[in-house]
Amino acid sequence: MLRKTVNERVGQFVLPGQTVGVVEEFNPGIGTFEVNGSIYSKIIGTIVIDMYTRTISVARRGKGPIFPIRGNIVEGQVTAVLQNKIVFVNIYKVGKIYLNRPFTGIIYISRVSREYIKNLLKYVKPGDLVKAKVISIKNGAFQLSLIGEKLGVIRGYCSQCGQTLVRRGKKLYCPTCNRYEERKIAVDYGEV
Ligand SMILES: [Zn+2]
Repeated sequence: MLRKTVNERVGQFVLPGQTVGVVEEFNPGIGTFEVNGSIYSKIIGTIVIDMYTRTISVARRGKGPIFPIRGNIVEGQVTAVLQNKIVFVNIYKVGKIYLNRPFTGIIYISRVSREYIKNLLKYVKPGDLVKAKVISIKNGAFQLSLIGEKLGVIRGYCSQCGQTLVRRGKKLYCPTCNRYEERKIAVDYGEV
């Protein structure tokens, strides 16, 4: 079988028993099963690929946005901020629906804020909960944006004691440590 590229497979409509990939490239995710190294679809649906967990899944059609699509507002937890350039997010909620398996989203520094960013950690920190928009799905990667007043950190934790920070004006405050931290704060900060 001539294997399709990742981009060709994302969103492809498949039937039960149809080959979607092989275990050398992906882990079998929900809606799939594996036999002798090949991954097949268990259901009628469309292919979803998460390149960061290297998982291929099949999403049921017409059952609500269980998988993030372009334009969705998602919530996730920041897992890493790499090289002052890229933010990794574990997406756990799409719209109002909590996912039973999180997806990895990435945010490039240029999509964190319209401001010039010198230190990305003053905008987001690992552990923060963020509200973001899915702007594209390329090569199985969910690319997110925090630009816009409704998007950004919705809950932040003190980097010294771990307590939930409270909003005070344009900054976040830790009552325990009596100190302030900076973030790219969403308008509805605290309403998680
Ligand atoms: Zn603290």
